[in-house]
Formats: sequence, C-alpha cells, structure tokens
Amino acid sequence: MQNLYELTLEQLTNLVTGWGEPAFRAKQVWSWLYEKRVDSFGAMTNLPKDLRSHLEAEMTLGTLEVVTEQISQDGTTKRLYRLPDGQLIESVLMPYDDDRRTACISTQAGCAMGCVFCATGQMGFARHLTPTEIFEQAMLFARQLEREGERLSNVVLMGMGEPFHNYDSSLAAIHRLMDDLGIGARHITVSTVGLVPQIRRFGDEGVQVKLAISLHAATDEERVSLLPVNKRWPLSELMDACREYVEKTGRRITFEWAAIHGENDTPEQAHALGKLLRGMLCHVNIIPLNPTGGYHHGPSAGDRVDRFIATLAEYGVTATVRVRRGIDIDAGCGQLKSAVIKPGEIAGGA
Ligand code: SAH
Ligand code: SF4
Repeated sequence: MQNLYELTLEQLTNLVTGWGEPAFRAKQVWSWLYEKRVDSFGAMTNLPKDLRSHLEAEMTLGTLEVVTEQISQDGTTKRLYRLPDGQLIESVLMPYDDDRRTACISTQAGCAMGCVFCATGQMGFARHLTPTEIFEQAMLFARQLEREGERLSNVVLMGMGEPFHNYDSSLAAIHRLMDDLGIGARHITVSTVGLVPQIRRFGDEGVQVKLAISLHAATDEERVSLLPVNKRWPLSELMDACREYVEKTGRRITFEWAAIHGENDTPEQAHALGKLLRGMLCHVNIIPLNPTGGYHHGPSAGDRVDRFIATLAEYGVTATVRVRRGIDIDAGCGQLKSAVIKPGEIAGGA
C-alpha cells in the first residue's frame, strides 16, 4: 500500500494513466484530496467505480495512526500518532476566538537538543520525520476541520523536534502547506532553538514564513544551563545571525521566552534581554513554563512577568504573554507522549 499524500500531481497522473484512466482523473483526485479534503475514497463521487476500487486496493489516505486524542476545555485537540515504524509523535489543534485554526506539528520523533525544561528534550532523539509525515499532521487536522465546515488557517512547527535539525524535510513540508493546502506563508511559523547556519540559510530561502527563536535566557551562563545548544552557538553568534536575517528579509523575529520562576524572570535577565534586543525588529513572546516531570521548576508568577515586560519596555522592546492552551490535557511540547512512554525509552527506538 502506498500513501496517496506522498505523491506529487505528476506522480498521481502517471499512476492513474498507468491504470488506463485519462489524465484529468488525477486532477479530480487531487481536488478531492486537497481542496475538498475528504477522508475516504468512497467520498470521491465523480470518479468511475473502477478507479475508486483501484485506489482503495493500492493506496492509503495517510499513514499516521491515532493512538489517543484528548480535547481540552478550551477546545484544544491533542493527538498522539503512531508512525508505521512504531515511533510516536504529537500534534495539537488550537481554535482561537477569531477564525484562526492553528495546527502545531512535529518535525522529529524526539529531539537531540536536550533543553532541560522540555519533555521532548528529556526523551532524546529517535529519528527525523519525512516531509510527508510532517505535512500529513496538518493535513489530517485540515480534513477534520473541513468535515466541521471550518478551514485550517495557520500552522506552527513547534511540536516535537527541532525543525532546523531536519531542515530539508521541514522546508519541503512547508512548501506543501503553502502549495497543496493553500496556507499563506505569513500564517506559517517555524521555531528553532537557535541553529545558526540554518537561520542564515533560511533567510536566503525567499519565503515569507515567520521565524521564531527559542531564546529563554539573555546571558550565556544562564542559556547554557537551559539549552545545551548554546555551547555550540553562543548568544553573540546567534544574535549576529538574527540581525542578519532581519536585515536581509525585512521581517520581524519572534523570540520565545518560557518564563521559569526565579530562574530567567529576574531583573538581571530582563535588563540583559533589553540590551540584547534593543533596536531590533522583533517581539518577545512570553510563555509561562509548562511544568514537566524531568524539571523541577514552575511558571513565573504573574507580577514577575509584568515587571519583566515593564523592564523590556524601557529598552523599547515589546513583549506579550501567550495564553497557555490545553493545560488540562498536557498540551505542552512532548507532554502527552511522556505520559505514555517513560523518558529514555524512545532513544532506543520505541
Ligand atoms: N525545537 C523547536 C520547536 C519546538 S519547541 C524550538 O525549541 O524552538 C516549541 C517551543 O516550546 C520552544 O520555544 C520551546 O522552548 C518551548 N517549550 C518546550 N518545553 C516547554 C515547557 N515545558 N514550557 C514552556 N515552553 C516550552
Ligand atoms: Fe528540542 Fe525544542 Fe524541546 Fe529544545 S525545546 S529539546 S529544541 S523540541
């Protein structure tokens, strides 16, 4: 069985003409897949019966198998998927009060970056996802929304894994989100822990996709203790690459800051961050820490976050607190999976 979502229109055309069907049938199938977003061959009502049974016999509509699905009180849906080789990954769908429907998707099974506060980092790295495995997570939510009369509008590559460690596949998936699902580049965000060569490369891609950098600390000493990657690319190199990116693309960067009580929410860190970002086209997104099993710290109290934001304002740096979604269902990065699998188990290949 082959995954239909893996084929380009050209490959699909070759397939159906190989079965003796006229080429326009491929366009019809394509439109059922990506415009009407149906979830069965039976729904492709304008196809001849023969072609439908051929498709049914030889093709699948996706390979991701839902292991668990949880729906939070705020409407956030979180899914744990099993890949054909048994690996587990997560995706989240977040409905907002405006018409936005945002899918948060994974780019790797596990992650090699080892950020201490992150549930995925605590699991270790299993493997890269293929472009189709990345794309399909958004596709499956798009399909479900379509059934409910809604449309997937935004995608963030902020699930499990480091997108820039799996650069080519992440970029290929991004192109499919734009080309096949019609999601505008400005409605796609890729988030990186700060892999400097890839940030430079991304600035040259000529896509309008948004870039987010997981900063979380404004001094090397503090950042190394949270994000081991900072040993390889310290803040000076990271900030050089970020400034270069902004100059080259004219686009604003979002810096992510998981606010950890008593750790990176201090006046010292706020002043250091203000100095680091002063004058740059950017915005700081503060996300109160989602507690995870392997890291015994909590989210910053609200008044500390308020003071932090006020200090940044002194430097002309804007910051907002992002609402935490799906708290009651562990919708934080890697958390659903860690409830199913114990840390360390994944590294050997689940
Ligand atoms: N690997 C990429 C993208 C996936 S993580 C990256 O690190 O940017 C998406 C975001 O969630 C990152 O900003 C990450 O630092 C943050 N994150 C991870 N664990 C978290 C936690 N326990 N609480 C709050 N934010 C967390
Ligand atoms: Fe990997 Fe991102 Fe988690 Fe760090 S925060 S371990 S880079 S997924």
